[in-house]
Amino acid sequence: MKVPFVSFVPMEQELAAELRGAFERVFRASWYIKGKEDAAFESAFSEFCGREHCVGTGNGLDALILALEALGIGQGDEVIVPSDTYIATALAVTNAGAMPVFVEPDIRTYNIDPARIEEKITARTKAIMPVHLYGLPCDMDPIMDIARRHHLFVVEDCAQAHGAAYKGQAVGSFGDAAGFSFYPGKNLGALGDGGAVVTDSKALADKIRALGNYGSDYKYHNIYQGHNSRLDELQAAFLAAKLPHLNRMNAQRRVIAQRYLEGIRHPDVILPYVPEYASPVWHVFAVRTQKRDALAAYLADRGIGTMKHYPIPMHLQDCYRELQIPQGALPIAEEISATELSLPMYYGMTDAQIDAVIDAVNGFDR
Ligand SMILES: *Cc1c(COP(=O)(O)O)cnc(C)c1O
Repeated sequence: MKVPFVSFVPMEQELAAELRGAFERVFRASWYIKGKEDAAFESAFSEFCGREHCVGTGNGLDALILALEALGIGQGDEVIVPSDTYIATALAVTNAGAMPVFVEPDIRTYNIDPARIEEKITARTKAIMPVHLYGLPCDMDPIMDIARRHHLFVVEDCAQAHGAAYKGQAVGSFGDAAGFSFYPGKNLGALGDGGAVVTDSKALADKIRALGNYGSDYKYHNIYQGHNSRLDELQAAFLAAKLPHLNRMNAQRRVIAQRYLEGIRHPDVILPYVPEYASPVWHVFAVRTQKRDALAAYLADRGIGTMKHYPIPMHLQDCYRELQIPQGALPIAEEISATELSLPMYYGMTDAQIDAVIDAVNGFDR
């Protein structure tokens, strides 16, 4: 049986009429940037996140860059980020002109280890960027406590965690601001690129909106040297059509994850750990094994797709050679990078497909 790593087809088939309707509405209105659709989605998404304001952006990376810039973070500043995340988290910091400072994750949750944050705080530290990696919320209470005691901003990277909750509270509602990505493969995905920042501060939202619109607060009046990064009307309309289905689609991911957690039994395979405080949304289902490449090949031979998140740790990427962090300096990030394998996880997986993955992993004998 073929089980792709990810497929949008079941979701697309189910929502085809609504997505076509969204297209028709925008096409009929003949208005494509900064209009009613963007405003309506922003209002719906801020409510979904339990925040006062939402500003649509061109993508998730821009959402994070604009949030940092709007908080006044740039040249000479340091921002604490996890050593194991998608590289966009660190790119947001360096694109804003600041320096990323890597803090190792907890090897059980793969999220930033709050106990290792304070030792990395210096006079230059301005913010902490927790990433709710793989859809699992970070341990936010100690992170917010450290931020308060050291007067640091918190910018959550929620790109993989739409709808996840920490102690019953939605991710994205803890920090000064939170960035989301609507890249098609994310839990809430557009039919193209998209992103958003949510915050409770009107002043911050206004500044982010201006920064993403050439630095302009009203037409042809420019207060910042800004960017062009906006959520277009078509993507906003698609997202507004999909948002009411997000909790239900996340719930199916939880069912798949539960089946995996109960069904997969293999001495060489470490399953994900879900702390008491977390309601994850399973952006990916990440297992770890010292035989990672062999397991990936074994599953591929049986028609099962997998992915590695992420095969090269950020500090060892060519683009960050200037940070001069040698191999071995961040052993937990390196260990995860060498051993992590993500199993198929998407809305619409059939029971037979879920069983096929479980049986294949349990049968792994190389
Ligand atoms: C996808 C992702 C981003 C970037 O979002 P884009 O919309 O692709 O720019 C940022 N951070 C994390 C953790 C991501 O997974």
